[in-house]
Amino acid sequence: MMVPADAQTGQPRSALPTTWQAFLQTQSDALRQAGLWRTIESLQSPPGPTVRIQNQELILLCSNNYLGLATDPRLIAAASAAAQKFGVGSGASRLLSGSIELHERLEQRLAAIKGCADCVLFSSGYLANVGTLAALLQPGDTVLSDRLNHASIIDGCRLSGAQIAVFPHRDVEAAAALLKRSTGRVLIVTDSVFSMDGDVAPLSKLLDLSQEHGALLMVDEAHATGVLGHGLVAQPALAGQVPVVMGTCSKALGSLGGFVAGSKLLCDYLRQRARTFFFDTALPPPVLAATLAALDVLTAEPERGQRACQLAKRLYLGLRELGFSALEPSAAIVPVVFGESTRALAAAAALRSAGILALAVRPPTVPEGTARLRLCTMATHTDAHITRVLDSFAKLPSDLRRPHPP
Ligand SMILES: *Cc1c(COP(=O)(O)O)cnc(C)c1O
Repeated sequence: MMVPADAQTGQPRSALPTTWQAFLQTQSDALRQAGLWRTIESLQSPPGPTVRIQNQELILLCSNNYLGLATDPRLIAAASAAAQKFGVGSGASRLLSGSIELHERLEQRLAAIKGCADCVLFSSGYLANVGTLAALLQPGDTVLSDRLNHASIIDGCRLSGAQIAVFPHRDVEAAAALLKRSTGRVLIVTDSVFSMDGDVAPLSKLLDLSQEHGALLMVDEAHATGVLGHGLVAQPALAGQVPVVMGTCSKALGSLGGFVAGSKLLCDYLRQRARTFFFDTALPPPVLAATLAALDVLTAEPERGQRACQLAKRLYLGLRELGFSALEPSAAIVPVVFGESTRALAAAAALRSAGILALAVRPPTVPEGTARLRLCTMATHTDAHITRVLDSFAKLPSDLRRPHPP
């Protein structure tokens, strides 16, 4: 194919100015040298419990499709039917002509499972966090944020212009101390299940703290919704008490989209003020229908989440027995910490040859010196899959089996 060339230089039009070329090259080289270069690989199969990549069959151990719903025939049928009926694109933002009845129905269903009065859909969880935090917080306000919160929370905090006070992971006392020194209105934000450590936030204590000080608590349920029932905020002790509940339809629900549930006042405000809602094209009909079908499956088969969690527990115990520094799972995430990025990469490569896909998670996704394999179990994994995974870990070279230096 002919690439359109610049008339004067004869270079392809996509050529970069020299200073930018040098900048991008230097940065890319540095990433490669630090073992932080990411590669993107295409699956040749659906994201089931096993996948095919480069004609190799692999046990998939790094997907957030915890319940296996992304390939569930019921979701596929619902998405197909919605595509036939409504088309594949929504064509505009919700506030223009992009909204259909399925958006409202899904918002009501999500509000109900979170024990809230209302809910706002976004195109992704990332956009839900960024748009909500930026809409709620203003310069002069303070946001207290757990050190291990997801990047979309961090970005939303930064975008808001509020004072950001980061507290050590799960440390409520440190959060309380920061709260005493904070100015303006205060929002406390935390993951419920942490994406990279797989543990849970001290939600009851954070709720008490927020209520004592009139602070607003926002909880991100991306890895809890559908895995731990309807999520941690839906459990009896917390039901109806967390004022800002964020979640995603892109993980256990097997589809795509983010949401924020809360009071009608909160949600109506976000529809007016969250720029990632206002200026973003509405989710397309097949995606909405698939998520609605996922909620039906969740109700009909609550054991799916339990199965994913049980497999995670078994994997964790097996890995501990083999001497790996696996972190205890609270949901379906089992991190195995290797320390240096190169060690995590070597482990990932060895497992890959053994037919297991578990990618290395490296800084800046996790703190320096804590590179890891973030293993995720799926309800659709068989017991034999987990046995094979443990057997493969057992065969890793001995220098990788040494626990990582603290
Ligand atoms: C994945 C994730 C998000 C973003 O959700 P997407 O729907 O993938 O954009 C937000 N918060 C946490 C904790 C996540 O793990």
